[in-house]
Amino acid sequence: MADRALKKSIEKAIQNPVLTGTLGRFSEAYVIAKAKAYEGIDFEELRSRIAEIKRCTAEHLYELAEEFKKNAEAKGAKVFITNDTEKIKEYILNVAKEKGVRSIIKSKSMASEEIHLNSYLEKEGIEVNETDLGEWIIQLAKQKPSHMVLPAIHITKEEIGELFSKKINEEVRSEIPELVKVARKQLRDKFLNADMGISGANIAVAETGSIVIIENEGNAGLVTTLPKIHIALVGLEKLVANFSDVVPILTALPKSATGQLFTSYVSIITGQSLNTDSSFKDLHIILIDNKRTEMARDPIFKEAFQCIRCASCLNVCPVFRLVGGHVFGHVYTGPIGIILTAWFNGFSKAMNIQQLCIQCGRCKEFCPGKIDIPGLILEIRGRIVKEKGMPFIQKSIFSIVNNRRLFHSILRKASLLQRPFVQEGFIRHLPMFFTEIADYRSLPAIAEISLRDRIKDIKQGNLEEKAVFFAGCLIDFVYPEIGEAVIKILNKAGIEVIFPEEQTCCGAPARYSGALDVADKIVINNINALLKEDVQYIVSACPTCAVSLKYGFISALKTYQKNSFVNKAKEFASKIYDFSSLIYCLVKTKRLKIKSFDRQEAITYHDSCHLKRTLNVYLEPREVLTTAKYEIREMFESDMCCGMGGYYSIKFPEISKALLQRKLKNIRDTKTEMVVMDCPGCVMQIRGGFDKEKDNTQVKHLAEVIVKGI
Ligand code: SF4
Ligand code: SF4
Repeated sequence: MADRALKKSIEKAIQNPVLTGTLGRFSEAYVIAKAKAYEGIDFEELRSRIAEIKRCTAEHLYELAEEFKKNAEAKGAKVFITNDTEKIKEYILNVAKEKGVRSIIKSKSMASEEIHLNSYLEKEGIEVNETDLGEWIIQLAKQKPSHMVLPAIHITKEEIGELFSKKINEEVRSEIPELVKVARKQLRDKFLNADMGISGANIAVAETGSIVIIENEGNAGLVTTLPKIHIALVGLEKLVANFSDVVPILTALPKSATGQLFTSYVSIITGQSLNTDSSFKDLHIILIDNKRTEMARDPIFKEAFQCIRCASCLNVCPVFRLVGGHVFGHVYTGPIGIILTAWFNGFSKAMNIQQLCIQCGRCKEFCPGKIDIPGLILEIRGRIVKEKGMPFIQKSIFSIVNNRRLFHSILRKASLLQRPFVQEGFIRHLPMFFTEIADYRSLPAIAEISLRDRIKDIKQGNLEEKAVFFAGCLIDFVYPEIGEAVIKILNKAGIEVIFPEEQTCCGAPARYSGALDVADKIVINNINALLKEDVQYIVSACPTCAVSLKYGFISALKTYQKNSFVNKAKEFASKIYDFSSLIYCLVKTKRLKIKSFDRQEAITYHDSCHLKRTLNVYLEPREVLTTAKYEIREMFESDMCCGMGGYYSIKFPEISKALLQRKLKNIRDTKTEMVVMDCPGCVMQIRGGFDKEKDNTQVKHLAEVIVKGI
């Protein structure tokens, strides 16, 4: 179970309608705006270029930092590079003391939040004023930013009105133009009277020693030009080798951040500029390390250098839009925030928040830096579990699941013991501490006869081709009828289905919980079991299992240096088909005919996370359903996670419930009577959700629908 404090802050966030409402609306509008902003641009090509540029940064960090220093200093800047965050604060204080600075204005600097600069300078009697509207609101509210580019997104305009009223001692109406007017008036004097300006930077160019700042409000332009001293705090990851590298980053940043085509202002600062009295500005650029060089040296986490801090991953993460940024507890929030917290604050500080990731993969799909964010979060999870271990009960459960004989005999016994709780195939209530798990969805009963026991009675005949069927735990023991449908359909296409008894769990529940060693133990046994027969296909009707078989097994073998087995695993992977893709091919090649039904029923389709985003399969099931003459009425956010996430729904039922309810609403809004999907896990979640709400909408696996038409 997750930490109690984390649970409490999740509950508080979910019950805050302002937070969930604002983030939800922003996230929905963002996806549309972002798609529009990228119209006519090859996003894949652009993000590959950015990834390459930043990969080069990670690989040549030291040289680039030195080159930047040399070139910036040649143009009059003073450059300070350090790993010690205390030294950064001392450096800034020394400059301030030396020049008699009493007042500082700031703009666009997450790095200064990272080192808690404001409170340090304020303790020394220096007035510090944030000037970006969102940051200023946060400063007045004495809070932390909740979002990387929209720091005050969680605060309503009514709350801002109250804050401003207190600040200026008079009533301020909560109308946006009025609020902006107050902020402008209040900040104008601060701009004019400040002795020092502190900014961040979006890019630092080694070739020219320039820093690039993009913004909408124009404050950074004033902060860097009005005071006679300018200090720029820049994380080492902002370095790029060449001036031409600026273009792809500038192209992507506003589009991915807020769905804007361009930002209003771009400032490029190369060396000292002139003050109004013709003296040269005192320009200091501090390149902050704070574990970044360590991160660049890590063979896996160096990928995080590809981040351009656009916050797109926050905007699209289904969990972030539900709980907001403060649940993450540190300066950087959301998906990338989990990774940065682990590095900048220590893995132990990320121990709780890394659990928030349901591994839906949506952030990876949107990231303009092409970072495998869920993969890196899983790596953090794995390293934490490796160091601290896993709760005994959880590890024991996974070990049982992986012990085929024991697991299967427990399930057979459980199918008898569950009888008093089962009604119409569902378990609708569970006693005591299990209540929460079945509180928002009915759970499916374990099948009385598993697929592995049923298959012996299925007559298949002597067919031309052969396929091995990897059922996975849910189809084998909970939904054997889906497995039977798969067998019937493949038989109809002339494929005999073999079910190797020795197959066991694909290891995904353990792998996604960070128990990589437990997950990896079943790899070789499964490969041996499935490759025993000479077949043309290895078929799975569960996308999570298909992903494990295709990718998870190979990476496990590499991790455990079972290199001699990797080639066998590759041969194995080449034969793996998810059910949808195989049926699509069989229909296309006219090996399988699907009859159109008399009744032209409108249905909707739910894209399972692993099928859509890892296997890139989403057109195929739609084509197959259209061949069967179904009218597909697309639901809103058809590829948004339904909240199942395996063990996640047990660990965070409050998040799982909220995600499920949103999905049920989107399905209902299509006004169809049936929702089809390819994943038995999603079937379990969505079918259980509708049953709990006594809604008759049918929830079907694609195989259950197609079998009616063969
Ligand atoms: S990880 Fe990707 S999506 Fe998230 S802030 Fe960085 S570049 Fe943007
Ligand atoms: S994989 Fe999904 S849940 Fe995890 S961080 Fe990314 S978007 Fe959020």
